[in-house]
Amino acid sequence: MEIISGIALSRTIKEEIKQEVSTFLAKGLRRPKLVAVLVGSDGPSQTYVNAKVKDCHQVGFESEAVRLDENTSEEVLLAWVEKLNADPSVDGFIVQLPLPKGIDESKVLLAIDPAKDVDGFHPVNIGNMALGLPGFVPATPAGVIQMLKRSGIDTSGKHCVIIGRSKIVGMPLSILLARNSNPGNCTVTLTHSRTKNLKEICKEADILIAALGKPGFIKADMIKAGAVIIDVGISRVETDTNEKGYIIQGDVDFDSVSEKVGFISPVPGGVGPMTRTSLLTNTLTAYKRSFNLK
Ligand code: NAD
Repeated sequence: MEIISGIALSRTIKEEIKQEVSTFLAKGLRRPKLVAVLVGSDGPSQTYVNAKVKDCHQVGFESEAVRLDENTSEEVLLAWVEKLNADPSVDGFIVQLPLPKGIDESKVLLAIDPAKDVDGFHPVNIGNMALGLPGFVPATPAGVIQMLKRSGIDTSGKHCVIIGRSKIVGMPLSILLARNSNPGNCTVTLTHSRTKNLKEICKEADILIAALGKPGFIKADMIKAGAVIIDVGISRVETDTNEKGYIIQGDVDFDSVSEKVGFISPVPGGVGPMTRTSLLTNTLTAYKRSFNLK
């Protein structure tokens, strides 16, 4: 059994990004810049935005968090989106989801310039991804692809079962892994809450990607021996064993499953850090495109 460490892989990728940034600075160019827009005071969202700003500084990017009041109107938020679209010093920006009630999420996402949409949620970028054209791939699926690639996992001709069909994880991953590319060329089964015989389907998987948000859902009797298991799930599970009062758990029952697998990504320390790093990679891509750099 081999552990796919998202922490170690993301450290390597960040080092690569940092090196690239220093070559651009040596040529007299400015630093890449990512802006995160946060509306309201949702706890986890604040943590994510703070982490994104910190990641940027680690690799030599400029970054800024735009923190807007809980009662911000859709109109004001859309004005911020327009401002960031037009600002030549901003390579990419994200609007942290979820947005407070009363703001139409899809209207805001549609207003973002696809060339700066480093979250990859704009329909233009989803379309480009589906057609294999240049664009931005959403951060979590991009992170999973890097995990497979950098772990040397051969995906060609393999049966990949994905659990969960969300727009930000399962759906894009199903497209990426079915594409004629490396990683890719999988036979993909995309499963969801209405899927029948899920256990039998999972047992057929050479690569199993769990993204349903149910802690410990995947047990050892649901997997094929030697399979590759990628655990995307992140759930807070209450506990009285620490001060925080909760632990973070994935969708996979790691202790029982890990004995049987070929590769497995842990939670925490698996897909999470890779998602954060993918946002940096997308921002660097946006920067390079705007300067016509290779
Ligand atoms: P979501 O809630 O939008 O979608 C969940 C999906 O799982 C749905 O398609 C649903 O049909 C499916 N599902 C639910 N119960 C099921 C069942 N019993 N059997 C089969 N399918 C079932 O989820 P999401 O936003 O994609 O997030 C999924 C999980 O991944 C969550 O735990 C979330 O916190 C985590 N996540 C992690 C990262 C990361 O960076 N590691 C990023 C995004 C999401």
